[in-house]
Amino acid sequence: MPVYFPREIIHAANGLAIGILGGGDKKLIIKGDAYYQSYICHMPRSIIELALDKHFEGFDGFIFPSICDVIRNLSGMFQLMEIGKFVKYLDFPQNFLPHIGGTFYRHELQTVLDQVYKLNGVEVTAQKLNHSIGLFNLNRQLICKLYDIRQEFPWRLTAADVYHIVRAGYVIPVEEHNEILEEVIRHMQKEFGDPLDKIRVLVIGAFCEQPPAGLIKTIELAGCYIVEDDFLLGARWIQGDIDTAGSDPLGAITQAYLDMSTFSSSVYDVGNPKEARLLQLIRQRKIDGVIFAAPSFCDPALLDHPILQKECNDKGIRFVSFLYSENTGQFKVIKEQVGTFSDSIKLWD
Ligand code: SF4
Repeated sequence: MPVYFPREIIHAANGLAIGILGGGDKKLIIKGDAYYQSYICHMPRSIIELALDKHFEGFDGFIFPSICDVIRNLSGMFQLMEIGKFVKYLDFPQNFLPHIGGTFYRHELQTVLDQVYKLNGVEVTAQKLNHSIGLFNLNRQLICKLYDIRQEFPWRLTAADVYHIVRAGYVIPVEEHNEILEEVIRHMQKEFGDPLDKIRVLVIGAFCEQPPAGLIKTIELAGCYIVEDDFLLGARWIQGDIDTAGSDPLGAITQAYLDMSTFSSSVYDVGNPKEARLLQLIRQRKIDGVIFAAPSFCDPALLDHPILQKECNDKGIRFVSFLYSENTGQFKVIKEQVGTFSDSIKLWD
């Protein structure tokens, strides 16, 4: 489940890690609403609905990376209902010192590997894990390249297309996804299409419950190119290559989390303020304006937004904000709001 999980360790154990990101706008929620109070986000209800409707029958185990209390409770529900052969709430360190947070995180990953070993008896050697890390390093490089090309030529592929291409990697083997990404990149390197008179925006706040594809399309139809976002953030979480040459690849994965994680509302990243990192991203991607788009009732995102918005205000960066849920179906108001935002930047900046 969102946001980030080191899929390398499951790959090295001959497993396939599938990203479960909610029911989107396709799944009607009936039973799921009975499991949660009304004032929380939508995604956990749709996940429980999918589970109760037996969509997860083929899965062996479920890993709930720590994001917020809602996901912690969801893991408890899976445990109580005995869904899957194991359920693991994976606590990420909020302390980034190697001998404290690092030791803790490594132990958590080893617990996952032990659970998988009990199921399939596959031993994860250093050689196998290094190989898997190499494949996911390539996957991250290719996704970064996709974003880099789009930063320069956003008219060559829509943000919704990029979203679907990256999201495919959550449900297919990484080898296959790498081939698709290479093909898309070859296609995007060709000269085609003409730039439109749109502003360049960064969308932030959508790191966990995903916006419907219609909302991503709406933002671009309202006069924006989304050149940076935090959709499907887990696929780009580690910002660089994890070492594949050493004899302790689990240590390398742990160290990468401590040193190379991106910023997100799900991480207490003391000493490395998110507002400064947001600003850096705004400069790097030559952003005209920021769109704060958070799922309704998403505490982590909504607690961060005032801090990030203050930074934007202080630095004279224009922004607009709205809430969504994964099954939002009416985009007219958002289109008008974003369209006005885009026009105001084009007319007065
Ligand atoms: S969308 Fe926000 S509140 Fe909901 S599970 Fe994700 S982080 Fe938690």
